[in-house]
Amino acid sequence: MALSTHIMPKPSDERLKPYTGPNKSCVFCFKAQGTDHLSEDVDELLHGKFYKLEKIITHYFCLLLSSGIAQNGDDNEGILGFLPKDITKELTRSRYLRCTYCKQTGATIECCARRCKKIFHMPCGTKRGSIHHYFSNFQSFCPDHRPPPVLKPKGIQRKEKGGRNTTKCVMCLEEVVMIRNKDVIQAPCCGHCSWFHRLCVQVDYYFIFLENRLSILM
Ligand SMILES: [Zn+2]
Ligand SMILES: [Zn+2]
Ligand SMILES: [Zn+2]
Ligand SMILES: [Zn+2]
Ligand SMILES: [Zn+2]
Repeated sequence: MALSTHIMPKPSDERLKPYTGPNKSCVFCFKAQGTDHLSEDVDELLHGKFYKLEKIITHYFCLLLSSGIAQNGDDNEGILGFLPKDITKELTRSRYLRCTYCKQTGATIECCARRCKKIFHMPCGTKRGSIHHYFSNFQSFCPDHRPPPVLKPKGIQRKEKGGRNTTKCVMCLEEVVMIRNKDVIQAPCCGHCSWFHRLCVQVDYYFIFLENRLSILM
């Protein structure tokens, strides 16, 4: 019996790598009108890196935050778990969805506030100060409903031996000390459910985004 020469790649190698080629036009937000021309760095920070699969080219966050799409694949399938057929379905859904801000179709990001009917292209939102959660249930908040920054975190907390306040990390549910340092970060918008271990947040540009937000708010 011949031994197979096939070598299983490590999961991290299997994952689709960001797309760096030409014609970076996102299938979700290319119709957005009147958005600022951003440098590649800023665009990536706000809207995510580009990924390409088959004919689909998308900003990662435009995909991740689209309200009508589910991540049905494993991390190494499709674009970070989003399968081409589901992406196509979401694009079809958005064909008649008009952006609250630029009035063009193709809007997929819905505000999560109750009774808010705002729906927008990601760049139309970020330009106006929308807030997005890149964790748990991937909520988006339109500029009218963005949660106020929480400067005094509230919620279930208790004193550690050293007298420091702790709460649970949103990602791993282990204890996290509520002091921002190089190992701990806080989302500026949602109180006790906003503290993370830095290592627990997988998407590294999310940190930069958060820190950007924090420096704006503090
Ligand atoms: Zn986009
Ligand atoms: Zn728009
Ligand atoms: Zn809203
Ligand atoms: Zn954690
Ligand atoms: Zn929040």
